[in-house]
Amino acid sequence: MKNKETKKCFCKNLLHGMLCAVIAIGCMLIFPQFEMKAEAKNHTCNYVWKTLSKGSAYEDLYEIKSCEICGEVQMTNYKRAYDFLRERMQNQIKLARKNWVVVNDLGFYHTLHDEVFVWLTERNDVTLVVTYEYEGTYYQTTFPAGADYTEFLQDDVVFYGMPGLHGKCGITSTAGGKIPSNFPELVTLEGAEGFYFHIKMAPAQETVYASYGDNHTIHKTLLTTLSERNDVTAVIFFEYKGMNFKTTFPAGADYTELLKEGTQFFGLLGVNGRCGIVTEVIL
Ligand SMILES: [Zn+2]
Repeated sequence: MKNKETKKCFCKNLLHGMLCAVIAIGCMLIFPQFEMKAEAKNHTCNYVWKTLSKGSAYEDLYEIKSCEICGEVQMTNYKRAYDFLRERMQNQIKLARKNWVVVNDLGFYHTLHDEVFVWLTERNDVTLVVTYEYEGTYYQTTFPAGADYTEFLQDDVVFYGMPGLHGKCGITSTAGGKIPSNFPELVTLEGAEGFYFHIKMAPAQETVYASYGDNHTIHKTLLTTLSERNDVTAVIFFEYKGMNFKTTFPAGADYTELLKEGTQFFGLLGVNGRCGIVTEVIL
């Protein structure tokens, strides 16, 4: 019985092999460049890098170095979106100003690597806030400054599911919109200077957040700083007459018109609609 099966299998493989050979010959006839490639090697290959996918915290990077003439691939470069995200968070924590609150949107990632607790232990004065989507709901998880993560660093767990961290080591999670209404105070005693610093230091295409509390004016320095870092988006949360607002200064905006006015301070409600700035009410 066993023998019979083997035999049957062999026949099948043989047939399969023949079929493959026929397809291969057929392909060579239909696509003669496969043959030409071997002949046309008299050209000197000119390899150029092509970006197939730019790469960001939410998209993998993929580049190939191939010959412009024959298409031969010499090299490829690949980087996972997760690695961009990881680097961003590490830099944010490492470079954060004293007593700073670091905000990172993890998008669809909802696990955290052990190394984050190492970074937070090294920068014990920093608070980390992450937002992420889990089963269709957006959450905000806060890792408070001064927390002791020894228990996480000593166990064998490498990846922690964010939903399970609530209540441990002072970590709190709340469900909410992508932009949480109870956004933490991001501007410390060092004031807006810290915000400008964050904009200057931000990785390319980053969004930098700040809460201005009940202050609803900005100094023109913010606009000159954003003009220097035209790729950065800045978002300010503030409170006015008991309502919460959010003002977005989109990347690529041109603030020349506002800067020409010679004014030192601008009201966040007043700049709504100017130079692409959007001020909106948040619940
Ligand atoms: Zn070539």
